[in-house]
Amino acid sequence: MLNMGEYKTCQKEVLEASLWLSEHGFFGSLRGTGGNVSVRIEGKEAMAVTPSSVKYHEITPADICIVDLSGNLVEGDRAPSIEAGMHAAVYRERPDVKAVVHTHQTYGSVFALINQSVPALFDEVAFALGENIEVIPYALSGSPELAANVGNAVRNKANAYIIRNHGIIALGKNMDKALLATELLEKAAKTYCIALSTGIPIGGLPDDVLEMARGLREYEAAEAKKKD
Ligand SMILES: [Zn+2]
Repeated sequence: MLNMGEYKTCQKEVLEASLWLSEHGFFGSLRGTGGNVSVRIEGKEAMAVTPSSVKYHEITPADICIVDLSGNLVEGDRAPSIEAGMHAAVYRERPDVKAVVHTHQTYGSVFALINQSVPALFDEVAFALGENIEVIPYALSGSPELAANVGNAVRNKANAYIIRNHGIIALGKNMDKALLATELLEKAAKTYCIALSTGIPIGGLPDDVLEMARGLREYEAAEAKKKD
């Protein structure tokens, strides 16, 4: 039997998250695979990540690749996503992150095209994602340069980013939080986009709320580093 050993739970989690994102339209098309998902394998310097060029409803958990954080395939018969390097870069930089979601979702992608960050205008967004959803500079999909750009960006300890002319990346201390970050980013981008289109000035959150959100995320990152 293939891949049915110690990695099974992680593989199942990655496939279930991918199916959920696909069914809810986060991959930009219902038939495509405009995105990829991974989860960190604790204590192994490795991750379970979606394979390249497959329809997620046509595969089983055993098709989810196990890849080390240097990009070497540890277990599995399929080629890992071309964006596996981007996921590995996040895990190397951020011990607090246990799950990563990358998608081509519509409203996040609007800001990827206009090269504008999305400010946190709801307190739930500030606390969960960060005070600002920043734009990571463009590099070719799947390139080591894009992985390096993502690795540099995530040092600010936020949990969601826009990738210029490409899509978004969302992070979490577990898969549920990474999926929530993906949804919250889309809500933040959608409402901001519609609010901008009214031409009416948009009010921001008070400074003390933004300060509180920053403090919480720094505390969480420091706690994760202690345990690492
Ligand atoms: Zn992509």
